[in-house]
Amino acid sequence: MAMGRVHVLFWLDTEDYITPESDDAPMRLAEIFSFYNVQGTFKLVGEKVRVLERRGRTDVIDALRGQDIGYHTDFHSKPPTITQYLAEMDWDEGVTEFIRRETPGLLDIQRVFGITPSCYGHGGGTWGPHAFPALQTWGIPCYVSGSSYVALNGRPFSYCGVLAFSALEHAMSIEFDIDRPDAATQLLARLTPMYERLQHDGGGVISIGTHPLQWVTDEFWDGVNFPRGRNPLTEGWVRPPFKPPERVEAGYRNFRTFLEAILRLPDVEVSPAHRLIGLYPDRARGRTFSLADVVSLARATTDVITFYRIDEADVSASEAFWLIIAPLVHYAVQKELPQDISHRPVLGPVRQTATDLGGDTIPTTAFTEGLESAARYVEHHGRVPSEVWVGPWRMSPEDFLATAAAALVALADGKLLDDVHIRRGSLTCTQYAREEYARGNWQWVCFPDGFTAGRTFDLARLQTWTIKPAGMEQG
Ligand SMILES: [Zn+2]
Repeated sequence: MAMGRVHVLFWLDTEDYITPESDDAPMRLAEIFSFYNVQGTFKLVGEKVRVLERRGRTDVIDALRGQDIGYHTDFHSKPPTITQYLAEMDWDEGVTEFIRRETPGLLDIQRVFGITPSCYGHGGGTWGPHAFPALQTWGIPCYVSGSSYVALNGRPFSYCGVLAFSALEHAMSIEFDIDRPDAATQLLARLTPMYERLQHDGGGVISIGTHPLQWVTDEFWDGVNFPRGRNPLTEGWVRPPFKPPERVEAGYRNFRTFLEAILRLPDVEVSPAHRLIGLYPDRARGRTFSLADVVSLARATTDVITFYRIDEADVSASEAFWLIIAPLVHYAVQKELPQDISHRPVLGPVRQTATDLGGDTIPTTAFTEGLESAARYVEHHGRVPSEVWVGPWRMSPEDFLATAAAALVALADGKLLDDVHIRRGSLTCTQYAREEYARGNWQWVCFPDGFTAGRTFDLARLQTWTIKPAGMEQG
């Protein structure tokens, strides 16, 4: 088997807007990447960009221009943090509020760097599903982070139409001990087994996350200022303890040694987020599927509702919802099934509902009304309806999808639709939202003691209707 290419994604969260002494660090690291003609993905906090401007650090900004730029929230750790303000909100209010609060930092990056960031990643434990449709609105196609409430067996995945490199199996971080004499050796020892496995398994991504501030200080800037929900006045902000200059320089030397060692490995590239986006195309987007493909999708859907692979394209449950009801709506009007069906991007439902029916069958006319109403809902809202009304009854989207899928299979087999038999959908994609991951996020040092945001988890779980694998382009 041919050896696969291993892409090393360095992402550097550049966020400490309190400590001027940390301003040099992103510049020094950008210079190291540039020296080797490669790029890291520097995810910038909006306020950090503004203080670099105010402090006249055009040298830092210019050094970052040669690198890949991501976005890392507007204020990061200053309360209310993202998960705190999203905690009690429903889907629509949360998405709108995320856009309102986080757009200023994005605009500052666009103004200063003249580009739209390649990716976004939350700060600390502030993952929230509402960020994903906001990214679509902003034209940011990619999410890069360590933690997440959702994960797909440690592999890259697509969620709400955004390519996500989060909660990956092949991931590591560079910590405050980067200045230790054996740091480069230790980092390479952690990287090597991941590299060897991926190289033999056809290639993939190793995610290496860090913070430039970790080269300069011995603690996080936010841990000393905003612990457990504290929000001191600006005058009360303090600086974290600094490393002496010789330790700072040792850190840069070690990083250079580590990067050089990576670049010497066969079949390796240092690939920033903007390059990975091209390597992980979504083959379902914008394409047309044959009726035969959609009927085979419908057969699979009557069994379990999750993501599927049809004709080399990955299709999520929400996309399947559209692909299966669209030909049935066409049939209701034209009395024949269409020969091909166009994909459209579809988000998941935003409320949990249960089916409430009077019996095991529904009249065809009521079912047809439900199909047409569901299709109009998808077109209007861009998401799977949280409930579908069939006559006087209400169905959950998973039961309606399973029922529609069985009807499509029956029609394709040449059967007539008399009364429609209700089927119960077996929605299994929800397993990819993991409550223990959410709880891990809520343990973050800047959240108040005992902080939880159960509603953000429930919404994340509903949006697993959109989860599907992201496959790397071969060759
Ligand atoms: Zn951060």
